[in-house]
Amino acid sequence: MADPATPGQWRAALKAEGVPFTELAGWTERGRDTATGKAFGPVHGILNHHTAGVDSLRVIATAGVPGLPPPLAHALLRKDGVVVLVADGRANHAGPVAENVFLAIVAEKPLPKQDKTRTVDGNDSLYGLEVENRGDGEDVYTRAQYDSMVRFNAALCRLHGWSEGSAAGHLETSVEGKPDPAGPVAGYGRRGRFLFTMAQFRRDVAERLSHQANWSPPTTQETPTVTPDYVNLGLAHGFQLAPDLWDAIEFTTEWNDEPDGHALNSPSFVKGAARFTGSLSLRFEGLAVGEVVQVRMSEYDDAGNLKLDHPIHEIIGTPGGTYGVVPLTKRLAAGRNMRVRLMNLGAEEIEVASAVLTALAWAE
Ligand SMILES: [Zn+2]
Repeated sequence: MADPATPGQWRAALKAEGVPFTELAGWTERGRDTATGKAFGPVHGILNHHTAGVDSLRVIATAGVPGLPPPLAHALLRKDGVVVLVADGRANHAGPVAENVFLAIVAEKPLPKQDKTRTVDGNDSLYGLEVENRGDGEDVYTRAQYDSMVRFNAALCRLHGWSEGSAAGHLETSVEGKPDPAGPVAGYGRRGRFLFTMAQFRRDVAERLSHQANWSPPTTQETPTVTPDYVNLGLAHGFQLAPDLWDAIEFTTEWNDEPDGHALNSPSFVKGAARFTGSLSLRFEGLAVGEVVQVRMSEYDDAGNLKLDHPIHEIIGTPGGTYGVVPLTKRLAAGRNMRVRLMNLGAEEIEVASAVLTALAWAE
């Protein structure tokens, strides 16, 4: 039980909930309170309808229908998802409501089937939302409409401290066999097309109410984030590299806070199936100026047999010590292990003074 929303509360609640809305001129003066001598309120819930028409604003706000003077709702929800506020007073939308259902709405309990023997006047205490839809089972509630419908109901529930149990459909309260709201919905959040049901609708309102008012339902499947293994290897000590011999670098130092990563299979630095990218920094001592050390990645099977050589990079001796950086980017099949091998083409033995390999590896 609560006092009906004031115009300021309407605006603030809809804005906070992200409901796009406009205000029909005179809406804060519009209502059947004076004409009936019955003031609207206290309020107990929200009754949802479909218009069973098109372009229904005039009918709902100012024209009414034979035997039913306007306004016919507090708000109209257009196909584009915009809510038009048409009245903040008493509106002719609910008609007689089965008392047993009404009491369940007040108590926010599951709604029973209508007992038609006792009724109350739903226009006394229920907000009415008319959602523009022909109601022929063919006309589709747009995504924008359904999203705004959920937000509109949640906004009023949040304002009054209600749960989703305060949101009802005309077909649940009517003793006259009203069928609304019903029909196909284009989609909502991650859901594609579905048929409108009040049970699903209340679940969607409940989900909204479990979040902040500015929440929006996710609309796309989240791509799982895959964190690559971080591989960071080096040499504890330099080693000598004799001429004319392919020699795999035996990494002996690992700087890796993921100890079960791909790096423990030295001299292999990554094990397939995986893809990886990184670089290898090398420093040589004793390599004559202009002499060459070749660097290549080679694939081995688990038994240590060489299966595949990759193209060669060359590092050329420079005065004062030789430095080189080799890029490492490859895809490695299952059961393969990748090693880095060096070939000293110079005449003299040299020292591999340092080798630092840094890579990110994604297991496949
Ligand atoms: Zn209705």
